[in-house]
Amino acid sequence: MNIGVPKEIKEQEHRVALTPSAAYQLIKRGHQVHVEVNAGTGAGFSDSDYEAVGATLIHDHAEVFAKAELIIKVKEPLPAEYALLRPDHLLFTYLHLAANRPLTEALMQSGATALAYETIEVNHRLPLLEPMSEIAGRMSVVVGGYFLAKHAGGSGTLLGGVPGVLPGKVVVIGGGVAGINAARMATGLGADVTILEVDLERMRFLDITLHTAHTLYSNETHLMELLPQVDLLIGAVLVPGARAPKLISREMLRRMRPGSVLVDIAVDQGGCAETTRPTTHHDPIYVEEGVTHYCVANMPGAYARTATQALINVTHRYIELLADHGLTEACQRQPAIIGGINVMGGTLHNEAVAHAHGLPF
Ligand code: NAD
Repeated sequence: MNIGVPKEIKEQEHRVALTPSAAYQLIKRGHQVHVEVNAGTGAGFSDSDYEAVGATLIHDHAEVFAKAELIIKVKEPLPAEYALLRPDHLLFTYLHLAANRPLTEALMQSGATALAYETIEVNHRLPLLEPMSEIAGRMSVVVGGYFLAKHAGGSGTLLGGVPGVLPGKVVVIGGGVAGINAARMATGLGADVTILEVDLERMRFLDITLHTAHTLYSNETHLMELLPQVDLLIGAVLVPGARAPKLISREMLRRMRPGSVLVDIAVDQGGCAETTRPTTHHDPIYVEEGVTHYCVANMPGAYARTATQALINVTHRYIELLADHGLTEACQRQPAIIGGINVMGGTLHNEAVAHAHGLPF
């Protein structure tokens, strides 16, 4: 099959959908891989890395689409790419259609089959989303620790402490994929870590896995008690299909010490604090009630190389199935792919997306 890997054109998106080693595996299976010039540069993969494994380099963005039957991307197509999609195209990428009506309509008009990474579900988990939560979770402690430094506007607390000085206190709200990764990094630094959760089974798992972190049932009273002592507060809650619950009011935030830090990972779902608003990598923080807020909605973009490698780890098996067998047989071999189909033959195939746009399903 002809597989196209366009360079991402979304601002500040440095990830690429295929690493040279993943391209090599596909070429070895008899497929042709067409990679746009500079597609991998932002993630540290040069054109010559792709050429060396037998991929064809293409200079023109539109030509990648023209040559491909299967297009693999990282981010959703942007308006400049809508007209490049054809009815015989299979598009495999993050789409997040529920929040994007123009793209939903453009995909329906194109006639292409659009598969979304984020709607492939296996055993009640979303395996193609998990690596991004892992990165955001681990990163939250790196950036949070940095913004605690005095020169960065912080309280001047080193999370790990030193012999003779107690460590900083980290509270993670939500112990799912992002939360456990945040807690793992924070315990690794030697910080004093508490995870607030509502799912008791999950708390049992966290308690056994991260034996130096404490778990506490998540409610307002417990948060009110903890906030005056917290140096780094990490928001990592998720209620599937809903906006993040607002667990920290402005009033509650005032209980935190000046120079403490809130990293609200859940900002992409609206955030778990009343004071949360989205920021960017270029201008990542602002201060409210003396607390530094870091609320970047696409945190993994900062570590494009790791994020690219982590993404391929989870997408490659689906890409190989689609390339080897085409959509119909790939769905028979791995039924989870059916859940990935959002648009096909001009119609919507995802109930949640249809519901979000008030369209018939
Ligand atoms: P997850 O489903 O794995 O974990 C969420 C956890 O929150 C669950 O364990 C759930 O029981 C818990 N929870 C729900 N309500 C709670 C409450 N009231 N108090 C405490 N815990 C509660 O989700 P995830 O993959 O870890 O994602 C967490 C958030 O991070 C999501 O909003 C996701 O979109 C976001 N995210 C953001 C970025 C970014 O760049 N900012 C990157 C990846 C993920």
